[in-house]
Amino acid sequence: MQPYHKTQGIVLKTRKYSESSKLLTIYTRELGRINALAKGARKIKSRFGSSLEVFTESKFLFYKQPSAGLYVVSQAQILFPHEGLYFANDKFASASVMADFLYTHTVQAERHEELYRFFRDSLKELELTGAPQNVLLSFMLKFLTVAGYGLQLKACSSCGKGGTEPGRDCRISAKHGGVLCEACSRKEGDSVVIGPAALKALSFLQEKGYKLTGNLKLDDTSSGEIKKVIGNFLQYYYDYELKSMRVMEEIIK
Ligand SMILES: [Zn+2]
Repeated sequence: MQPYHKTQGIVLKTRKYSESSKLLTIYTRELGRINALAKGARKIKSRFGSSLEVFTESKFLFYKQPSAGLYVVSQAQILFPHEGLYFANDKFASASVMADFLYTHTVQAERHEELYRFFRDSLKELELTGAPQNVLLSFMLKFLTVAGYGLQLKACSSCGKGGTEPGRDCRISAKHGGVLCEACSRKEGDSVVIGPAALKALSFLQEKGYKLTGNLKLDDTSSGEIKKVIGNFLQYYYDYELKSMRVMEEIIK
């Protein structure tokens, strides 16, 4: 008998495998990120319906093909189609950046329920929100926190003593993991300068739930500074250039 695995999962990516089958990458709650073959999924009257569309959350039943080391989708039942993401370019683009990031920067078959919840909640919020960019920035900050690279925004991340001066610009260093006090700022060249409004917004996006991110009004300066900080951290810790984020900005324009 084949060993069966039952789990919820969200499709990150799909590609053609053969004339009739698709190969999917799914971020699952129980098994982490996996690749799975969906036989017959490319046929017009596929038994899977739309349960295998990108961003759709479904209940899956898989079995593992021991020879190929690949999961095969046996059943899929839709939980949340997130179809609202398909009708707004900026929402679709934000969801694509998240999916691309999870695809690239999670370890295959490493279970991470918290990350799964973040992703699911952020997709749900993206559908409802009027501020998709805030949801995306919040997702990136939460991803960094879960990975152990959460931004230290209160005490100086280098000396641990000084903090930021209220109402003044400050520097954030990816190498040290957060804000720098004045003394350390003078020694540390490789850091990003941000204004007090951006600092406040950063801590809001990092700490508050997705539902509240829509309340945050970001002007262009603060949003640019925040993106620069996040971009800096992603590049330092993941060697990740926010290419897809730039694509998203092109779409929003
Ligand atoms: Zn310091």
